[in-house]
Amino acid sequence: MNIILLGPPGAGKGTQSDLLVSRRGLIQLSTGDMLRAAVAAQSEVGLRAKAIMDRGDLVSDNVVIDIISDRLDQDDTKTGVIFDGFPRTVAQAEALDQLLSKKGMALDAVIEISVNEDALVARIANRAGESGGARADDNAEILRNRLVVYREQTAPIIPYYQEKGALKTVDGMASVEVVAASIAAILDAA
Ligand code: ADP
Repeated sequence: MNIILLGPPGAGKGTQSDLLVSRRGLIQLSTGDMLRAAVAAQSEVGLRAKAIMDRGDLVSDNVVIDIISDRLDQDDTKTGVIFDGFPRTVAQAEALDQLLSKKGMALDAVIEISVNEDALVARIANRAGESGGARADDNAEILRNRLVVYREQTAPIIPYYQEKGALKTVDGMASVEVVAASIAAILDAA
């Protein structure tokens, strides 16, 4: 089973991915993790991606599509994957459709973890206020930018999947276990 988890930064995609890995044996494909690995390895891709990621902007579509395409060619993905943090633009969603059909893979569910953005911003602002100092404020600023980037560049993929009839939404303001149960119910029905 192959699924996409969608949602803004702070929605809990990583937490729910971890649970799906341990409970269902799916493989997590996080483009954020893969890019951070490239940065750590100081590869050519990593060197170019670092400044973009530090600002909270999006790395170019071609780069992440190539990374995902290569990763899907590895055998461990055959048992099922969670796309976490990908696709993040409509162009990436279109490219993923092509990749999946070329590789003979199905998409079983697209799950949006929906959260109240005001609550996320308040959480971020609180966190910055509590820790104090310029650096925490910088981080809050970057997180706010990531929310703007999400709204402008990533949110348009929600209607993209809605029109295909593939989208399911869960309430991400509920507790971790309640969100996990909602996702489990969707996957059991898929
Ligand atoms: P989050 O903390 O929201 O889960 P990620 O770890 O998924 O964030 O991503 C961290 C950064 O990596 C993003 O802000 C962006 O710069 C880059 N990135 C990750 N995935 C993608 C993608 N699919 N397209 C473009 N950039 C990406």
